[in-house]
Amino acid sequence: MKNLKYYCAPKTIEDAVKLLCDKKCKSIAVAGGTLIAKSLGDWVDKYVDIRYLPLKYIKVSGGELIIGALCAFDEIDNNPLAKKWASGVLSKAAAKCSSQLIRNMATIGGNIAKPHSFNIFPALLFALDAKVKVAFLKGVKTYQVEEIYNKNFPHKFGFDSIITEIIIPSYIKNCAASYEKFSKTQSCWESYASCAFSLSLKKGKAEKPRIIVGALSPKPIRLEAAEGIISNKQLSPKIIEEAMEAFIGNLDILKLSAINISFKKEIAGAMFKRFLTGISERNI
Ligand SMILES: Cc1cc2nc3c(=O)[nH]c(=O)nc-3n(C[C@H](O)[C@H](O)[C@H](O)COP(=O)(O)OP(=O)(O)OC[C@H]3O[C@@H](n4cnc5c(N)ncnc54)[C@H](O)[C@@H]3O)c2cc1C
Repeated sequence: MKNLKYYCAPKTIEDAVKLLCDKKCKSIAVAGGTLIAKSLGDWVDKYVDIRYLPLKYIKVSGGELIIGALCAFDEIDNNPLAKKWASGVLSKAAAKCSSQLIRNMATIGGNIAKPHSFNIFPALLFALDAKVKVAFLKGVKTYQVEEIYNKNFPHKFGFDSIITEIIIPSYIKNCAASYEKFSKTQSCWESYASCAFSLSLKKGKAEKPRIIVGALSPKPIRLEAAEGIISNKQLSPKIIEEAMEAFIGNLDILKLSAINISFKKEIAGAMFKRFLTGISERNI
């Protein structure tokens, strides 16, 4: 932080993007500051504090749930709309973030802008089929959440662009969803396993399932083979066993190299089975 020369606190998204893209300085956007405080490089000479942008809201518009990028985990945890949508999974997941201090400061935008294997929202928003609205110098564009983790994604968040909103589609409102994280001990980051699941139940059959694992790599991973097994099927014990086999097979093919990988795979499998079994038991 020792080379920091300028501090700006823009009030509009347009100004914030202009300040970031001004080539005279090496700038970075700062939201809650929980990650930046630990990782701000000496190369940065301008700090664009985006906390004052009007991006702190959770609302329904056109049937979709819209979350402003500056909402902190605590606001999501306590928001009545977030508690209603998708079995309240957004609130329940936000409450799982480490400490109250971090939940007060850390924003959802910052959480997805810099994915890390133990970040909650990249996996959860992928499971909820969310879109991400991005403002950059030439305009605004909305991307599917998985697109922002594609290596050819054209923007560098916090350097040339700002995430402004997260959009959850209307069909997700009544779906069954779950976010699970587990570690051997509370402070053991390296043994973290996390998964996010969602599906809609229509006449007892699973529709549009999303099965996402986090914590096995910084970017969330979708397990489409397992989704294919349960899609448009009743969740019988036989289908759940078949889906479990596909889930484990999917993970084996990926050849992941995270620390404690076999433990994480085993836990992820147990989380998946528990999600499906819970739904099928409630549906009997
Ligand atoms: C002690 C500790 C415990 C933590 N525990 C957890 C946990 O349990 N679960 C979890 O998920 N995370 C956890 N985190 C990670 C962290 O809190 C999150 O990643 C946080 O959400 C980052 O948001 P922020 O607003 O603080 O980002 P900042 O630190 O302000 O910024 C982080 C990066 O994102 C960019 N950025 C921020 N907002 C935007 C935006 N709107 N658009 C574009 N770029 C943006 C910045 O330029 C910067 O590069 C923890 C962190 C700490 C320090």
